[in-house]
Amino acid sequence: MLWLLFLAENAAITFLVLYTGRLVQGRPYVYTRREWGICAVTNMLNTVVTYAGFWMWKEGWITITMNISWKVITDFLLLFFAMDLLMFVFHFIIHKTFLFKIVHQLHHEAVHPKPIDLFILHPVETMAFGGMWLALLLLYPFNIYAIVIYLVVNVVFGLTGHLGMEPLPAAVRNLPVVRYLGTSTFHHDHHQDVQYNFGFYTSIWDRLFGTHKH
Ligand SMILES: [Zn+2]
Ligand SMILES: [Zn+2]
Repeated sequence: MLWLLFLAENAAITFLVLYTGRLVQGRPYVYTRREWGICAVTNMLNTVVTYAGFWMWKEGWITITMNISWKVITDFLLLFFAMDLLMFVFHFIIHKTFLFKIVHQLHHEAVHPKPIDLFILHPVETMAFGGMWLALLLLYPFNIYAIVIYLVVNVVFGLTGHLGMEPLPAAVRNLPVVRYLGTSTFHHDHHQDVQYNFGFYTSIWDRLFGTHKH
């Protein structure tokens, strides 16, 4: 029964992403059967990751703290920057090695990404991202509210990067903190030129490693 609940949760997130993308764009996208098929596989794999996380929590391998304290903010920031760095490194590797052809090329069929492209991933990528997420949860007892906020923020950035347009005016994108965040333009530019912008939530790793496109 829990399988179904987790599958429904993942499907609901997917439809929320596609629906929000459509609202922001103001016109419906037409997705192909192939895109829906890959999207369904990604959802099933994400459900496996969700279930694995639940099972490890139930077995006591993953500890989650429930109290409201400063840990809500510090744990969120820890998840945000740790996942951003892990995904940056993984993303860089799948671009620069033989893995590009067999794993990551699928996601880069989109030169002008659409919201569904967030889910157009090779099973190896989906499981690698899920694996990094579970590894962090195994390593450190994160706060439940920090986890929930992080998961929402993760979906927001995923949608933002594959929106196919930039909702933020340049003036907002140049604000002190926003400058360092992964905006729509930031990830869209990665789809246009795969030499740049390997980060997801922030541009700080790209700035450090000299792969940031201005
Ligand atoms: Zn890429
Ligand atoms: Zn992308």
